[in-house]
Amino acid sequence: MSKLKIMVTGGAGYIGSHMTAMLIERGYEVVVFDSLVTGHKDAVSSNADLFVSDLANHQSVEDCFSRYRFDAVMHFASFIQVNESVRDPAKYYKNNVAAGLNLLEAMRKFNTKALVFSSSASIYGEPQAVPIGIDHPKNPLNPYGRSKLIFENMLHDYDIAYGLKSISLRYFNAAGADPSGLLGERHDPETHLIPLVLQVAAGRRKHIEIFGNDYPTKDGTCIRDYIHVVDLCEAHILALEALLQGYGSAAYNIGNGAGYSVLEVIDAAKRVTGKEIATVLSPRRAGDPGALVADASSIKKAFKWQPKYTDLAAIIRHAWAWETR
Ligand code: UDP
Repeated sequence: MSKLKIMVTGGAGYIGSHMTAMLIERGYEVVVFDSLVTGHKDAVSSNADLFVSDLANHQSVEDCFSRYRFDAVMHFASFIQVNESVRDPAKYYKNNVAAGLNLLEAMRKFNTKALVFSSSASIYGEPQAVPIGIDHPKNPLNPYGRSKLIFENMLHDYDIAYGLKSISLRYFNAAGADPSGLLGERHDPETHLIPLVLQVAAGRRKHIEIFGNDYPTKDGTCIRDYIHVVDLCEAHILALEALLQGYGSAAYNIGNGAGYSVLEVIDAAKRVTGKEIATVLSPRRAGDPGALVADASSIKKAFKWQPKYTDLAAIIRHAWAWETR
């Protein structure tokens, strides 16, 4: 039997590169479509084909579909910086929405009917209750979150009108690295808490800024739900298999269901690394809700998804192995 062919947009990025490696390990044929604007060529598995282009270029998206005839798509390619999206919303709507539309149009033209979408908890905005269930109202606080919500809405409409089936996975805080130590998080500039904290531990940064200690949380710092990138990718495989077996469109939260504060993350990093980590207290970062914790019960029920790395120390240990590779 020939292998199923999966397009992974953004497959040279943090989550996309882990996904590509896992898909290949599970026997899929993978084509990574990536502009390499933020992704890294050397993060792409040598067993995948790399098609370097931008989703904004609709002709090259069609060329890619015409060459490979995909069975399904996993769509990771997007810009992800909240602050930048406030300063330059056009960049986010052009890439995350308009370029994404080119992808959906190519899927329609070439009759590819299954898509797993990398969505985000940021579509919920300020939580009205924690943990956040899948039916929580959606009021994104910034253009990044709005771009993800618009794309989810587009998927809904494409299903009704054209029968394109999709599963949107709303990530909380993706973290950690492949246990092999060969893949990990590499953003430039880095803005995420765990890699920044570990760069301080490794002596590559002087200190970590704590963005606010006056939130209504147990220690005053923000609480987030950190989910290991491998567990996240496992959820994508389950979603993909469900779609390929004829499952209908759906959306799920992906998180551990446990919240850790910024101070708890720093403490755990000190224990894992055995290093001192200098901190500086800074004002709140605009648009940061105090606590974001997932209620991921619906994907556990639907696909029997169960995160393996529920312990924050394990997540940080893998990220540390990557950081000190
Ligand atoms: N954070 C921090 N200092 C940093 C980076 C992040 O205190 O240098 C906090 C941030 O306010 C948030 C949490 O760490 O509460 C996680 O932030 P990150 O940017 O990693 O992910 P986000 O929750 O924004 O998706």
